Amino acid sequence: MAFKDEIVKAVDRVADELVATSRFLHQHPELAYEEREAAQRLTALLKGRGFEVIEGAGGLPTAFLARAGVERPSATIAFLAEYDALPSLGHACGHNLIAAGSIGAALAIQPFLTTLGGQVQVIGCPAEEKGGGKIALVKAGLFAGIDAALLVHPSNRNELFKCALAMRALRVEFFGKSSHAAASPHLGINALDAVLLSFTNLNALRQQLRDDARIHGVITDGGRAPNIIPDYAAARFYIRALNLDYLHDLHRRVVACLEAAAQATGARAAMDDEGEEYHPMKFNRALGHLFQANLEALGERVDQTPEDQDLGSTDVGNVSQVVPTIQPTLALTDRPEVVCHTAAFAEAAGGPAGDRTLLLAAKMLAMTALDLFADPARLRQVQEEFHRT
Ligand SMILES: [Zn+2]
Ligand SMILES: [Zn+2]
Repeated sequence: MAFKDEIVKAVDRVADELVATSRFLHQHPELAYEEREAAQRLTALLKGRGFEVIEGAGGLPTAFLARAGVERPSATIAFLAEYDALPSLGHACGHNLIAAGSIGAALAIQPFLTTLGGQVQVIGCPAEEKGGGKIALVKAGLFAGIDAALLVHPSNRNELFKCALAMRALRVEFFGKSSHAAASPHLGINALDAVLLSFTNLNALRQQLRDDARIHGVITDGGRAPNIIPDYAAARFYIRALNLDYLHDLHRRVVACLEAAAQATGARAAMDDEGEEYHPMKFNRALGHLFQANLEALGERVDQTPEDQDLGSTDVGNVSQVVPTIQPTLALTDRPEVVCHTAAFAEAAGGPAGDRTLLLAAKMLAMTALDLFADPARLRQVQEEFHRT
């Protein structure tokens, strides 16, 4: 535990800098793939502390890879930073805290890396909220050679394990034929009707689905004027499920619904997958329980709700399929009704509650990494679980 006391003190020593970084991100919210100021600020901080930094990692301009430690490490642990914000709500998902917390962990453990014979990385992951930057980073091979990946997400509860829904996004366009809606409707082909029928078909499908399935969409183009038969209409849908097999099955059935709408109206359908496929979360219980022990050592407790309920999707799922990964959550406030993607959450993430949470996250992450570096048997257990499940 002596080593861990040192780690906790090391976080406290850089607390002012971490809080300033978090507040800066909060005051300069940037959307997915536009996080230029954030990436600049975070990489400058890491460079100033002697980290070797690769900007634009994996071919994404606002991604980065920072590393410190020995040349031939016995283990390499990655802390993942997110730093994108939400349209109109700013940092309502608290990604400013994720970035500052992960960097805090890396800075705290850095002085001990020579003794431990290890390497830490901070992987700057853009676009969690839209597009899934980590999926591109996984494909670019950034996670090859990493023994474990860790990040803490602020939330309304301290939780260890939460499933994530696999997800695909689909865009459909219908092409019809315009005509005068009163004088010659019989000469038109109504693309808007194809969109409306798509929703009707999907609503019928929805009733026959498993509980974990989610299909939801918006109309992005519905025509120009009531007196013109719309020759063009478009919609976007998200399709989600707990596992990839069911997701692929749903995707086929959604496509059939859209094709049927085209058939019924005579419009032509064009469909495109938007972005990459989000994968489900693969748990690593051994790694999660190390985190839990550290959380409890600092006087906090886990407040776990059912693992497979109240779920979203995250590109952390894709990371978890290629490397042992945990993404526990820490309560941002003591009010469970303050949930992410709300104005109240954004406000808390930019104030004292956010500061407290990010410093706790940094300590938890650094202590858990220390567990892995200090005892190869623990890391082996984590790896074995990863390969077994
Ligand atoms: Zn979010
Ligand atoms: Zn988030």
